[in-house]
Order: sequence, then structure tokens, then C-alpha cells
Amino acid sequence: MVTPPTQLNAFCVDLEEWWHICAADTPYNDPATWDAAPPFVVKDTEILMRLLDETGARGTFLTVGWVAEKYPSLIKRLADAGHEIGCHTYYHRVVYEQTPEEFDADIGQCLKVLREISGQPVTAFRAPGFSMKREAFAYAYPILAKHGITTDVSIVPAARDHGGVEGFTRDPFLLRIPPHPTFDLRQPTSMKCWPVSVMDFMGRTTPFSGGGYLRLFPMSLVKRGYRQNHAAGRPGMAYIHPREIDPDQPRLKLPWKKYFKYYVGIKGCEEKLRQSLRTFKFTTIAEVLASVKHWPEYELIHGDIKPATRRPASSAAA
Ligand SMILES: [Zn+2]
Repeated sequence: MVTPPTQLNAFCVDLEEWWHICAADTPYNDPATWDAAPPFVVKDTEILMRLLDETGARGTFLTVGWVAEKYPSLIKRLADAGHEIGCHTYYHRVVYEQTPEEFDADIGQCLKVLREISGQPVTAFRAPGFSMKREAFAYAYPILAKHGITTDVSIVPAARDHGGVEGFTRDPFLLRIPPHPTFDLRQPTSMKCWPVSVMDFMGRTTPFSGGGYLRLFPMSLVKRGYRQNHAAGRPGMAYIHPREIDPDQPRLKLPWKKYFKYYVGIKGCEEKLRQSLRTFKFTTIAEVLASVKHWPEYELIHGDIKPATRRPASSAAA
């Protein structure tokens, strides 16, 4: 008899449109063009909602503010169905290419919309394209903390296009953030950070549980990735975009490497998600992190994230 899996995993959807692709020159770089573009996000998100419903799972929908403002009833339905709403910025711009002032304004605008529509506190954040790199640590975390973000799921502990911090810790950790008067963060605080799941494979560290990796890798390798993490006592994290399950979406003209990465394996993706959801137990980021008992402490210091060496002056929300 097979024992049912007990280790919780998070199911994350980066809730955005099919043209929200980072660092690419497309006809949709200017948000003024978005209203006239053919919409796919509602139909594709409904497929993901049915998939979660069918497998008795819940998820966290890290939502682009523009999408929420355009389709408020979709966000309300997600919240009513017990899913968690998180923040994926308002305009889906790469974090490290924004000035601190631009990032601050974008996050404020996004959270206002998401909190009003969902009725949830909205405390989880993911950077577009996982673009939380060292260049952005010094301003991004104090700004997120000031806006009431208490969980970040932006860092990929592996090499990546626009984002990715090689050699970074893979475990959830508590990040101590000192006060930052410039960004109006008056008190020291802390944030739960959970790096995106990676696995060891053929001497390399690679993501496996979402995006192009999930679409490209055989299911046996994806399952091995989850089991590797579970064996280390660590929850897994799936991540997907609504467009990744829709073979009918329009194709953007992209450089061939990027084209391959964005459009490979779309036909089989829904079935791979179904298999992941049937094999392992998935829920929201908040519920997974509530089950984590051990929280190593790190600190934001000199623009980097390092294991904490000092006791905090005063501790805030964990
Ligand atoms: Zn995104």
C-alpha cells in the first residue's frame, strides 16, 4: 500500500497575461497597448482553478495589479474559492531595472488594488521574471516591508536569465530588515523568504517544478526533484503562468532561445500539473510556511543577505 504524501508543497500561479514576458522586445512593452490585445488570462486561469478543484488543492495567485483591476471578478472568485492572493507588481517590470521610487510606487498601486478587490491582507510577493537579484536587495526588501509584505518567493537559487542567485540557500529563512528612513521603514522588521525549488541533477542546480523546466523535463525527473527536497525536510514549490497551459495563445516574435523557453511543451503542461497535483499535496504559500518549524535567520546587511550574526535590536513580526 502506498502511503499518502504528508509533506506540504505550494502551488503558485503568476497571474498575468500571455504578453507579460520580461526583458523582451514585443509589441506590448507599453501598457497603453494592453487594452487592445486579445485577452486569454481569464479563460486560462479558469482551467487552473478547475485543475485545483479537481485535485482538492489550493494555491497562491501572485497577481499583476493591472490584471486584477481589469478582471476584478476573477480575483474575487479566486479569493472566495479559498486561494491566496499575492502581489506580482502592477506593471510587471523587472525589479532591478526600476528606481527605488518607481518600485515603491508600483508596489503601493498594486497592493491597493489587490487588497480592495480580494478582501485579503495580501502579504506575499514575487518579482516579475524572478528578478530579485543582489542589485535590488538593498531597496526592494525595505520597500516591500513598508508596504506590509511579510513573505517573499522571488529568489531562484540557481543561474537564470534575469534573476537567480547561484549558491543561495534553498531553505525558507527569516530575513531581518533594519529600519530604512529613506523608504519610510521606521522599525526593524522581518520577512519570511522562501527560495524557488531547485534540484541537483547531473552536477548542476536546476529548477524543475514550473515554467519551461516543468514543460521540458520528463515527469519522472520532476517527481525526483520534489522527493529530493522532501528528503532534505524542505517543502516544494510549483509555479506556473496561465499562458503555459494554452496551446491557442498567440505567439510573440522572440529570439529563438527565448521562443523555445516560452513555448516548448505547452500541450502537455496541463497534464504534468495534474500529475504533480495528484502525486503530492499542494496548498497556499501561507499554509506551507505556517507548517515550517525551523527558521534560520539571515540579515539584510550592506546590500546583501547573510546568515545573521547578531541578535536583533528588537524583533518584529515573524
Ligand atoms: Zn510574471
